[in-house]
Amino acid sequence: MLLDAQWIKQNALAIGFDGCGLAVAAPIQRSQWDLQEWLAEGRHADMHYMEEHVDKRYDPTLLVPGARTVISVLLGYKPSALMEGAVKIAQYAYGEDYHERLKGMLYQLLAALTERYHQLEGRPFVDTAPISDKYWAVQAGLGWRGKNTLLVNPTLGSYCFIGELVVSLAADIYDTPLPDGCGTCERCLRGCPNHAIVASPLSTVGTQVDARRCASYHTIENRAESLPQEVKLSDYAFGCDCCQLVCPYNRHAQVRYRLTPERQEQLQSLLEADEKAFNRATKHSALSRIKYSQWLRNLGG
Ligand code: SF4
Ligand code: SF4
Repeated sequence: MLLDAQWIKQNALAIGFDGCGLAVAAPIQRSQWDLQEWLAEGRHADMHYMEEHVDKRYDPTLLVPGARTVISVLLGYKPSALMEGAVKIAQYAYGEDYHERLKGMLYQLLAALTERYHQLEGRPFVDTAPISDKYWAVQAGLGWRGKNTLLVNPTLGSYCFIGELVVSLAADIYDTPLPDGCGTCERCLRGCPNHAIVASPLSTVGTQVDARRCASYHTIENRAESLPQEVKLSDYAFGCDCCQLVCPYNRHAQVRYRLTPERQEQLQSLLEADEKAFNRATKHSALSRIKYSQWLRNLGG
């Protein structure tokens, strides 16, 4: 029995996803995904977990034995307004933790699928296992990989979370990648205050992000007591949106999150928060990814 691709997409949209596409689950050609070169150049900084399970990152059938289809889904997060005040937080962290929300929605989709296809086996992924989510979103026709190396969707821009369901049945119709929409634009390269988007001849988009120079990496992943002085944080205390704010697709992207005055106030109050208040306020937010000591360090930077 083949999966009805149209039915799956309709269900995904009804659950609340902003996009859904299907790709054949098969090993990724090394020439089509530049992870190994990124690692070999040391551009992952000290994110050593990226060196693990490289074989799985290139082959979803190692994650789900017998996998036939990758169902890729998107959830937009562009906020209705930018956070006010002197200190900035990456827009993806304005709302509730996307891991929890996206995973819950993927389980809903999986439940709908198993109800219709009793023999189906599947597993949801949201940043929790070694799967190359941007590659699969491109294969599923949900966008192209921009020069900032993020997925760019024509409607949501790069302001979207990506998740997958890897399932054991083949589908009746698969999607095909969209054409590149960046063209000659290089605004993200010029918009990066740290020149962290570097040329990379082996990358399919011609660029890679060097985490060693990237403010997003340093404010979130870097656990050191102090940050390299040469890295410009541009007033960000969590993440960095500089290369996304300049992207023309993001300027016209659909708003998918309403930043209420109450939430604005709550985010601003973090500037004065002690450890207890910080932990309480960030409990269900992506901000919980950093410790209070990192928060203070970033504010000082
Ligand atoms: S997140 Fe910031 S520092 Fe990193 S590549 Fe984009 S603009 Fe540069
Ligand atoms: S800023 Fe330009 S080059 Fe960069 S991702 Fe957006 S469209 Fe592509």
